[in-house]
Amino acid sequence: EKGKPLMLNPHTNKGMAFTLQERQILGIHGLLPPKVETQDIQTLRFQRNLKKMTDPLEKYIYLMGIQERNERLFYRVLMEDIEELMPIVYTPTVGLACTQYGHIFRRPKGLFISILDRGHVRSILDNWPETNVSAVVVTDGERILGLGDLGVYGMGIPVGKLCLYTACAGIRPEKCLPVVIDVGTNNETLLKDPFYMGLYQKRDRSQAYDDLIDEFMEAVVDKYGQDTLIQFEDFGNHNAFRFLRKYREKYCTFNDDIQGTASVALAGLLAAQRAVGKPITEHKLLFLGAGEAALGIANLIVMAMMEAGMTQADAREKIWMYDAHGLLVKDRFQKTDINQEAFVHDSPGDVHSFLDAVNTIKPTAIIGVAGAGRLFTHDVIKVMGTFNERPIIFALSNPTNKAECTAEDAYTLTEGRCLFASGSPFGPVTLSNGQVFTPGQGNNAYIFPGVALAVILSGVRHISDTVFLEAAKALAEQLTDKELAEGRLYPPLSNIREVSVQIAIKVMEYVYTKGMAFRYPEPMDKNGFIRSTVWNTSYDSFLPDMYDWPGVSFKPK
Ligand code: NAP
Ligand code: MN
Repeated sequence: EKGKPLMLNPHTNKGMAFTLQERQILGIHGLLPPKVETQDIQTLRFQRNLKKMTDPLEKYIYLMGIQERNERLFYRVLMEDIEELMPIVYTPTVGLACTQYGHIFRRPKGLFISILDRGHVRSILDNWPETNVSAVVVTDGERILGLGDLGVYGMGIPVGKLCLYTACAGIRPEKCLPVVIDVGTNNETLLKDPFYMGLYQKRDRSQAYDDLIDEFMEAVVDKYGQDTLIQFEDFGNHNAFRFLRKYREKYCTFNDDIQGTASVALAGLLAAQRAVGKPITEHKLLFLGAGEAALGIANLIVMAMMEAGMTQADAREKIWMYDAHGLLVKDRFQKTDINQEAFVHDSPGDVHSFLDAVNTIKPTAIIGVAGAGRLFTHDVIKVMGTFNERPIIFALSNPTNKAECTAEDAYTLTEGRCLFASGSPFGPVTLSNGQVFTPGQGNNAYIFPGVALAVILSGVRHISDTVFLEAAKALAEQLTDKELAEGRLYPPLSNIREVSVQIAIKVMEYVYTKGMAFRYPEPMDKNGFIRSTVWNTSYDSFLPDMYDWPGVSFKPK
């Protein structure tokens, strides 16, 4: 590519950073202002402009615009202020961007496959310009964050997640493919909206839907290879469990809402138990919500308890769940489903509210993953503080307005004794006595980029749950005692790149030890190997490899 098209391609565009020689050789001289800029000054320009903006959605649109024009600059800007900008490209603002997708749309990103394309998925995939994809994030838009069914507007999620593959773990952007599968939407508002961009039909729940997902999976590995990583994201509860079971032994796949969430939440608990000074086996947990997140977390906690010497049955007895119909107990009127069976216990007595459940079960930790708003009431939080010296309170539902409680409520109502984490970010909280707490953000972004990096580099064919257990331990180890004392349960997000690399090293060591890795030869120095692959944002030179020959070689002797 040369000339103007090269400038219009975000992979190759450097903006005013093209040197004079490059401008001449590439045929773009005169198409740019005369000054040659460094990436530093370009970055500063965007940082200044972002600082001036107050509206998060405006920042989102602006950032996505940089990505459309100059990819390396976009990642440079994102990575330099990752703590501040992650809430823009990811939860909570990405949620708002998804709801507004049809209105803020500029240029399409990612691949759109609809139920009308059945039988032709491979031809659609062939239209994707990259030939070397190693990671796919796919959604069908049915359960976007805690916002529900957004249909094709869910594309913001795979796009945002894959931005974090690159920003957090240095996976090359062209190796990442965001996909939305459009099988309709049950969102009545969208179905009436003239600006909606998907199919105007109710969700197809027939065999055709399953056939389409099957065809998609086959087409991906057919084009990009059997070890292509396929991350499922924001599928509805029933389908998420079904597809995970169906595909986990056949493809290199995981479900982030179930398994990634489990890993990040367990890491938070492992950190919390360090502060509490009680082993995980002595904890009793009560979940608000009994869906993908709750069951994923619960199952991984059981694995961690078993590793600490407990039986599976005893571990399961330590975990209770409360859903939209109340406590999960045997013979209740609202039946439980097969994924929940392990956590359905004998009724402990009359329980009519979540507060009753807390009072009856007396958990050491409550974990909110219902996506239904502020259900950890003041009474619930206070009661947790009466029978726990250090109550563990995780309000994980996203986005921010769906969190079960605010950080401020959790800290003030427990006089600063609680160990708190949320899914979406909350700022530091200062108590009236001047004590400052920095809440933990149980952000899946701590886990999935590092796990993905290790999986891709090791040639893993199937991802087992134990991988997420290892990742959780690796993440918890990253937290220093000093950070723990500040109230943090996770290392600062500003350090996410190093955290991801450390997780990738641990996971890579683990999968080779367990015979799950198929890349040969095995890299002996995994630390060095991983660091050598990590993508960075410096511009490539477009100058041809030019050098002189010594004149003497052409002189007859
Ligand atoms: P899901 O599979 O749909 O599960 C939601 C669960 O919450 C269901 O068991 C549902 O019960 C229950 N529920 C709904 N309303 C309730 C109410 N008013 N009271 C009690 N329980 C209620 O969804 P999910 O994938 O688990 O996600 C749930 C939330 O967790 C979302 O907000 C998501 O953003 C968040 N999440 C956070 C993280 C993170 O922070 N790292 C990761 C993943 C997910 P019924 O089945 O009876 O309706
Ligand atoms: Mn998700």
